[in-house]
Amino acid sequence: MAETINDIVIAGAGQAGARAAEAMRARGFKGSITMIGEEPHLPYERPQLSKALLQSSDTPVAYIKPSRDWTQTLDVRIETGAAVIDCDADRRTVSTADGRSFAFDRLLLATGTRPRRLSVLEDAEIDVQYLRNVDDALGFRRHIEARSRIAIVGGGVIGLEAACAAAKGGCRVTVIESDERLLSRAFPALVSDLVATRHRNHGVTFVFGATVAGSAPGSVRLSNGATIAADLVLVGIGVAPSGDLAARLGLPCADGVAVDASGRTAVPDVFCAGDAALQWSRCHGRAIRVETWANAQNQAIAVAANMIGETREYSDPPWFWTDQYDLNIQVTGDMRDADHIARGDPTGGRFSIIALRGNELVGALSVNAAKDMAMLRRIIAAGATPLRADLESPRYDLRAALKPQ
Ligand code: NAD
Repeated sequence: MAETINDIVIAGAGQAGARAAEAMRARGFKGSITMIGEEPHLPYERPQLSKALLQSSDTPVAYIKPSRDWTQTLDVRIETGAAVIDCDADRRTVSTADGRSFAFDRLLLATGTRPRRLSVLEDAEIDVQYLRNVDDALGFRRHIEARSRIAIVGGGVIGLEAACAAAKGGCRVTVIESDERLLSRAFPALVSDLVATRHRNHGVTFVFGATVAGSAPGSVRLSNGATIAADLVLVGIGVAPSGDLAARLGLPCADGVAVDASGRTAVPDVFCAGDAALQWSRCHGRAIRVETWANAQNQAIAVAANMIGETREYSDPPWFWTDQYDLNIQVTGDMRDADHIARGDPTGGRFSIIALRGNELVGALSVNAAKDMAMLRRIIAAGATPLRADLESPRYDLRAALKPQ
């Protein structure tokens, strides 16, 4: 006989938690849903934090729903400013830092990630900022408005989107990247170089192969001996899963919380979705954490269905985009350790790069070519295997790859 599910608790009130709650109600779940988040805010969209929210004080915070919808329309109880710090899997309760206890039949861990911290800046003599939540973004925007001199540690998505906003806002910006090129985790060298050139054209300076070794009022000292004048250091050197709660459940979480395709963890009735979930990726050929907005939304929706008794497997290839100046760059799947085929003219500013391992299409990147990307995402998701010779032809219509052979 199917188990009765009365009470669902969602730990984490970000994108994944909020979309899961919505999906449960949309699919007819009638029991109680309690979403508990440590931030004082209602769930909001994060992509704007390093983009639009930094670029204009007219941009409002993009809440996923106004408060009345959570309580009145969706009948979801939200506890904000409450960190879930413990879980008793046998008694099926979680407890919050303020001493309250919540019972569950099923628990979703949607606790996301935290920025990796730079230890040499822990007691810095200069302002240091991370960029993960809405308060961080509003704080950084104030520095942009003050035309501060900004040193950014990390040439990844956070560092570069922040650099773009700050350079457009008239700040003097230096990006310090420990690797020899930008965004090496996801981008081929050709695209790293294109992005670097666009930033330099807007006045951004790069230091590669170095990190920050110390600070003084008005400057940072680099590992290569150089000194950079700065009023603020923004650190964007990656994230780590927020695994404290998983650890209380005995779940290893150094690289994320391992889940199967339905989002189940190794603890019965405990699920995990979003940035913290370590899930199988066919494109990568291994389990990975997927730190994207699309995953936080779509994996959470699929896991929500499983939590209320449906059966749904999730295997969407990872996908993210970044906007910097006039560049819209989208990436799906895995671009590394693969052969690359260019579609379009990379010097013309609108092109795609397709990644093949053997005959398998495992990834794609598009620069200002959103229509190509929409097709490539579908092709990769379907596991279609267009011929390499076809993909190499500039006249090949990608739609043909999805037609039955
Ligand atoms: P990231 O992994 O994209 O980039 C980190 C960069 O920092 C890398 O280039 C790395 O080589 C460099 N680095 C690491 N340690 C360093 C050090 N000690 N000194 C100098 N450089 C160092 O991570 P991020 O940019 O911090 O982004 C964090 C998260 O935010 C990611 O999960 C990302 O997906 C998410 N995010 C996504 C978007 C988007 O999708 N457009 C935008 C913003 C943030």
